[in-house]
Amino acid sequence: MMHEILPEVRAFLARAQKLLIGGEHVPAASGDTFETLDPATGLALARVAAGDAEDIARAVQAARTAFPAWAALMPAERERLLHRLADLMEAHRAELAQLETLDNGKPYRVAFNVEMNVAIGQLRYYAGWPTKLTGETYAVSSPDFHVYTRREPLGVCAAITPWNYSIVMATQKIGPALACGNTLVLKPAEQTPLAALRLGELALEAGIPPGVLNVVTGLGETAGAALSRHPGVDKIAFTGSTEVGRTIAATAAATLKHVSLELGGKSPLIIWDDADLEAAAEAAVWAIFSNSGQNCVAGSRLYVHTKVYDRVLEAVVKRTRQLNVGPGLAEDSDLGPLISQAQLDRALGFVERGALEGAALRTGGHRLGGALGAGYFLEPTIFDGVADDMAVGAAEIFGPVLSVFAFEDEDDVVRRANASPFGLAAGLWTNHLARAHRMAARLRAGVVWINTYDWFDPAVPFGGVGQSGYGRELGSQVMGMYTELKSVWVKL
Ligand code: ADP
Repeated sequence: MMHEILPEVRAFLARAQKLLIGGEHVPAASGDTFETLDPATGLALARVAAGDAEDIARAVQAARTAFPAWAALMPAERERLLHRLADLMEAHRAELAQLETLDNGKPYRVAFNVEMNVAIGQLRYYAGWPTKLTGETYAVSSPDFHVYTRREPLGVCAAITPWNYSIVMATQKIGPALACGNTLVLKPAEQTPLAALRLGELALEAGIPPGVLNVVTGLGETAGAALSRHPGVDKIAFTGSTEVGRTIAATAAATLKHVSLELGGKSPLIIWDDADLEAAAEAAVWAIFSNSGQNCVAGSRLYVHTKVYDRVLEAVVKRTRQLNVGPGLAEDSDLGPLISQAQLDRALGFVERGALEGAALRTGGHRLGGALGAGYFLEPTIFDGVADDMAVGAAEIFGPVLSVFAFEDEDDVVRRANASPFGLAAGLWTNHLARAHRMAARLRAGVVWINTYDWFDPAVPFGGVGQSGYGRELGSQVMGMYTELKSVWVKL
């Protein structure tokens, strides 16, 4: 059975999508547009304005104009408006989830239940923050002064987001930016611009003043690069590839913008012989294949203790073969297509290289044909017999490809898990309490999941080390990344 496309979604797709600047729908100054495709069919879904440097300049100006009044708004009022936006997201949950499914390809069930839950939860978490921001007083070594700090907004922030969770990536940055009194220019990924545009409309409907949240769709090299360069932008929060993160950090350095980077990964998941092997195998399957492997925290390197290697590999392969790959709108799809032909080609390239380098293909490895042939569908793929330095086992693929390795002991697996230049996430399955905590400390990653994987909560910081980036998203710490501390000295 297929989910019916909602009338409001049809109406949205039929409109030529414009930029949202200063509360107005405006075409790109150049008049240029681009198509966003449905990855399940490869067909055009909607036509969207292609913003460039001129549009970015207009959006930054609108955000700058809106900034003083937004920053001066009573915190309780900012809270109310952010909660109102979360309410509207609830009310339009099915519509936003369908836009995400059509634009990104992921199963509607996942978009509706998981992505929308996370996005609304994040927004509500941040909605609570404006009234909780505080400064401090200091015990200076002189009786003559009273010294305190004020936590002030940075000004105009920019969010450059990827296509894998387009709604969550937007709320994760809109929430703290606006809660702290900043205004924002959001540049969604060109592959998935639709939900962000609808979110921008809902923000206006919620009563968030024009110019506080601007959405400029466009290509990374034009609109994204212009945001990184623009002297009127005070901070860039970026989620995406390590390569683009480096470019953005370098460009942003010229104007000393604040930068936070949430980048790629090649995350290890380690299963010990004393673990609940059934639960571990099930978790390992979802750790890599959820969102068709297009997940920054994808557990793409699976290390299994030699004693249970064959058993765990067999369970993982068996479960993987049961996964249903199909269009996001089909009710029984577990995995959707990859986002684009380019991403499919890239993943297939790694599969081919893995086979050439001598890794053993245990399941998958092919593009799906038949009725799915026009879309970018790839079978979930598992290799074992992978040497640590093979491309398939070391590079971030961002697709449904798992490499499985055997390990002997703790030092061996910690060394190999940590050998990656990335350091985003790590998973650990063991019932040995001391080992679990010891290894959590030894693994080089921004997040370690023990006897679970891929859990998030808006209260818990998230981010990576090394080539996975710097700065954190989520949690209370992020408020420090969207504000500046001002020290005030008063002579008594
Ligand atoms: P992915 O590899 O997941 O597609 P990218 O890092 O290419 O991720 O893209 C993430 C975001 O970065 C997108 O919004 C994209 O448009 C943007 N982007 C791509 N290139 C640049 C660039 N040179 N400068 C700024 N933003 C960019």
